[in-house]
Amino acid sequence: MRKSLYIFSLVCLFTLLCMQSMVFAASETATIKNLRISNNSDKVRIVVDADKEVDYQSFALSSPDRVVIDLNDAALAKNIEKEVDINSKYASKVRVAQFKDNVVRVVVETNVKKSGYDIFGIVGGETPYRVAMDFGNISYAAIGSTTGSSTSSSSNDTSYRVNEDFDIDKNAKSVLKGKRITIDPGHGGSDSGAIGPTGVREKDPTLRIGLNLAEMLKQSGAKVYITRKTDTDVAPQPATDVEELQARVDVGNKTNSDIFVSIHLDSFTSPSAQGTTGYYYVNGSSNSERLARYIKEGVIEQIGTYDRGTKTSNFYVVKHTQMPATLLEVAFVSNPKEEAILKSDDGVKKSAKGIFNGIVRYFSEL
Ligand SMILES: [Zn+2]
Repeated sequence: MRKSLYIFSLVCLFTLLCMQSMVFAASETATIKNLRISNNSDKVRIVVDADKEVDYQSFALSSPDRVVIDLNDAALAKNIEKEVDINSKYASKVRVAQFKDNVVRVVVETNVKKSGYDIFGIVGGETPYRVAMDFGNISYAAIGSTTGSSTSSSSNDTSYRVNEDFDIDKNAKSVLKGKRITIDPGHGGSDSGAIGPTGVREKDPTLRIGLNLAEMLKQSGAKVYITRKTDTDVAPQPATDVEELQARVDVGNKTNSDIFVSIHLDSFTSPSAQGTTGYYYVNGSSNSERLARYIKEGVIEQIGTYDRGTKTSNFYVVKHTQMPATLLEVAFVSNPKEEAILKSDDGVKKSAKGIFNGIVRYFSEL
């Protein structure tokens, strides 16, 4: 009796151990569910969708030149296309295979050198985890000179070019010298954002304000990065909403910016809604709160809008940036009076000046 109890216990223990290790193994392996490719004149982006975070390594091989990305503890879903041609000067082909039992290998045929590609993980959005691989023009250059060197020839773009010497005081220059600042004009390209009663599209004033602000900051000696200089999407198309927002976040994170300022216009069904709001991430630092508040107050001082307060939010761009960040709603494009301000040169310049003053105040108190 005692012996059978002993054996029974052993069997129980063994079963338990087996079950545990099975559960453990199952939770360790990520499934690679999809491989997507997007492409524009600047770069190719290859995205691998996974159902959990994946550890990866990359290395380059020659003849033919290719970059290999190994995804560890990963299994390839059955329905994935194993080989895709890419019609780009930056990469010609991508292949994916179950290289070993627990390693999925992605091979990209590409001629770009080490400085021409970048591989990074993305958390957030509907897909639990993604590994993005960019090939091509991946550096985020500081905003160009006042004479402009835009690669686009659309008349829309040239009309937004800012050719002005701003009158900037010495204090602002000493405070801003060498500061790294990312400006994110909201929306753009395929995404117009909110539209006002006379047809003003959110993406236009946000860009005009952003370009004026960028120029003022640059003339103050700051190192300025802008997520877009023209009426364009930021991520290579086609892109999901999250990828578009992540592309903006990337500019801030990869340039190691000191602050990130996203410029938007508010909108509501009722035309009477009005005012300016400064948002920062709900778990953001006190510096994020200060940045949001000072910029909002700077704008109100310039354009005389109603103060809707400094509020917390979960907006993607303030949540995923690694530095103090704010999303500013300058005013309501749905409000006829405020739409008129946002449409005018004077309103655009004053809004930019208000943000600028808020940024100077922020850095002078650090
Ligand atoms: Zn917006």
